[in-house]
Amino acid sequence: MTSLASCIFCKIVKGEIPSMKLLETDTIFAFMDIGPIARGHCLVIPKYHAAKLNDLPDDQTKDIIPALKKLAIASGAENYNILQNNGRPAHQVVDHVHFHVIPKYAERGDDE
Ligand code: 5GP
Ligand code: ZN
Repeated sequence: MTSLASCIFCKIVKGEIPSMKLLETDTIFAFMDIGPIARGHCLVIPKYHAAKLNDLPDDQTKDIIPALKKLAIASGAENYNILQNNGRPAHQVVDHVHFHVIPKYAERGDDE
């Protein structure tokens, strides 16, 4: 399990690793994914370090859904996936809770 001190997403929140920031509140941070699987693929993370969603206190969740909605709308895509992986068998690579916003541009192809 990645500790807070070595967590790349905690470092992004603190500005120790650069990112393309999109949104920030007192509890969340949103930025572009470094390896997008579609144009506009971005991530929403709580600032609180929790590896899995079940580790995240409820009082750290208030801004997550509003941020996901804002970013989905801002992508301009009519269709999109919200993806949140927990654990290696579920394809989680970064052990800090994150929600993927993956736009689907059906009219131009999924990856455009
Ligand atoms: P997971 O598979 O854990 O759900 O997804 C982790 C995501 O984090 C991947 O889509 C990956 O491209 C992204 N990612 C990993 N390291 C960095 C980084 O240093 N900066 C940014 N912006 N995204 C990252
Ligand atoms: Zn972290």
